[in-house]
Amino acid sequence: MFVATNRGQRAIQLGRYRFTRGRCTGSKTVWRCVKQTTAGCKAMITTVENAIVKLTGEHTH
Ligand SMILES: [Zn+2]
Repeated sequence: MFVATNRGQRAIQLGRYRFTRGRCTGSKTVWRCVKQTTAGCKAMITTVENAIVKLTGEHTH
């Protein structure tokens, strides 16, 4: 599930979708779909201590 991008950053691979790390508040991290900028995708994942606790939005692609 957790993967490393070719730039060494952490990302989440969920099925055919990939998320990159966004906002981070305490132990909570929000991950945004990589297509957010190119496809206007609004899907996001919230994790707490490496566990997915919430899926928000739907993919547009
Ligand atoms: Zn998406």
